[in-house]
Amino acid sequence: MSTIAFIGLGNMGRPMVGHLIKAGHVLRLYARRPEVYQSEAADLIAQGAVACHSPAHAAEGADVIITNVMGPADVREVLLNHAQAVIHTAKPGALCMDHSTIDPQTTREIANTLAQKKIRYVDAPVSGGVWAAQAGSLVMMMGGADADVQEAQQLVKHYTKTVTHIGGVGDGQVAKLCNQIAQVINIQGIAESLRFAAANGANTQKVLEAISGGMAGSKMMDLMGPKMVQRDFKAGIEARLHAKDFFLVKAVAEKQGIDLPALQTVAEQLQALLDAGWGYDDTSSLLKVLEA
Ligand code: NAD
Repeated sequence: MSTIAFIGLGNMGRPMVGHLIKAGHVLRLYARRPEVYQSEAADLIAQGAVACHSPAHAAEGADVIITNVMGPADVREVLLNHAQAVIHTAKPGALCMDHSTIDPQTTREIANTLAQKKIRYVDAPVSGGVWAAQAGSLVMMMGGADADVQEAQQLVKHYTKTVTHIGGVGDGQVAKLCNQIAQVINIQGIAESLRFAAANGANTQKVLEAISGGMAGSKMMDLMGPKMVQRDFKAGIEARLHAKDFFLVKAVAEKQGIDLPALQTVAEQLQALLDAGWGYDDTSSLLKVLEA
């Protein structure tokens, strides 16, 4: 059994920790807001996980350090930049694994810095949402050296359905951003389709029923289509997370001079969604942006 430091006890992190405790591992947790240990994460502490006061404290003696925070600056902060960052206490040979969705370049920079202290790194972002994290059926994309990925797989098997080793460090994040491009452009397409149906006086429920079973059908249509028709914009998948990922892809694509016109348009729609104050609502709110 391993000693695992787990940093970031948000909606995705908490169920992952639950699965690791159940599998018999020793968990050392770090939450930025200590009140979390008495509230959302109280059950994890009751099951024996240790509450730590800094990333460095959590990493003390850990074989594996897992991060599940928010964006690139957050991963960099807890692993490297924080006055009490992981790098100050992690033992040589420890394995860092990041489940946050961030950009590949930051990932590779962080991994290179950690490597100077002989700390290994695997990027392991996920797809599937909070319900898949709870059910232990996430889809994971990994980047890293073969041996490190194999070791990481022994842990993540407790909360994944499939794990694909894409390539070297950073390639997991490339795959995750590809996932986001295809996924959110699809959501925008579904919103435009139902907007068009309503504007032309057709019953949107019937239109959705008909096209879901045809060539336009998709997992996203099954998930988001009914929410749009029923005007249930509660998350689900919080739009702020899709927006964060889209702005990451946009920045990478612009830097590299890659032309992604649909992504550019949908990024503007997501910005309008955030400006309207719907960031914590479901991404199906893209329909409301069209209506506005
Ligand atoms: P969340 O907001 O519920 O949780 C994020 C947690 O990280 C919070 O507890 C926050 O306090 C902590 N955190 C953020 N920045 C930090 C910092 N600098 N230092 C210390 N702690 C910090 O978000 P979530 O839904 O759990 O998502 C976490 C990551 O997983 C994100 O990168 C997200 O894009 C990705 N993700 C989320 C989903 C989803 O459906 N929610 C799906 C796939 C991937």
